[in-house]
Amino acid sequence: MQKMTFMSRLRLIVFALLVFLLAAASRSGAALVAIDAGHGGSDEGIVYTTAGARPVKEKDIALSLAKAAQAALRQRGIPAFLVREVDRNMGISERASAANEKSPSLFLSIHVSSRGDFNIYVTWMPAQEPDVRKLYLYSRRQRPYIAQSREFAASLEQAVKEAFPGKGVSYIEMPLSLLNEISAPAVMIEVPYPDSVDYGNQLNRQRFAAAIANAVTLYQNIKPAGANAR
Ligand SMILES: [Zn+2]
Repeated sequence: MQKMTFMSRLRLIVFALLVFLLAAASRSGAALVAIDAGHGGSDEGIVYTTAGARPVKEKDIALSLAKAAQAALRQRGIPAFLVREVDRNMGISERASAANEKSPSLFLSIHVSSRGDFNIYVTWMPAQEPDVRKLYLYSRRQRPYIAQSREFAASLEQAVKEAFPGKGVSYIEMPLSLLNEISAPAVMIEVPYPDSVDYGNQLNRQRFAAAIANAVTLYQNIKPAGANAR
């Protein structure tokens, strides 16, 4: 067997390094995160009332967290846009097309839970095409991305657990019409209700935003391009 010369070994190392750098660059370069603040306008979502205090609305919490997450991502050089930028009504198909037209590489919808823990949702996706009775629950648009949606959800679960160690985090797969309409890896997160986390406190918003940025970074680092398994 022929021994490798120093030069050929060097060339191999340089080549491997280039491949690695290109792969890393294409992954981070491809990242564009769509952040969807749930509800808006006359659709206020859940309204939380405490005696003597101004009611807190889900639509407002969602928007303030979406803005914080966008800022945290941009700070790390990850481009992100808001699907809903102001307090206005926005239906599911309008939301989906506003997101899809920018071809994001990730989609995250933010809502507030009626309980004190986090819920992370990925749409329901059977291994086989479902029978006709269940077809209305099912999304062909989300099908090519489901493995990555699950990967992103797993990254999100890990990042949220690290940021909020006292909180439970549930992973749930169920048919969700918004996620079904998204042509990208798509996840919905419900944050704990405001009795449990004070979202008026900037530090809490930043903690959540940093967790989102960590989740995106984690997802980009573990995701082999085009991977299919969870
Ligand atoms: Zn909601």
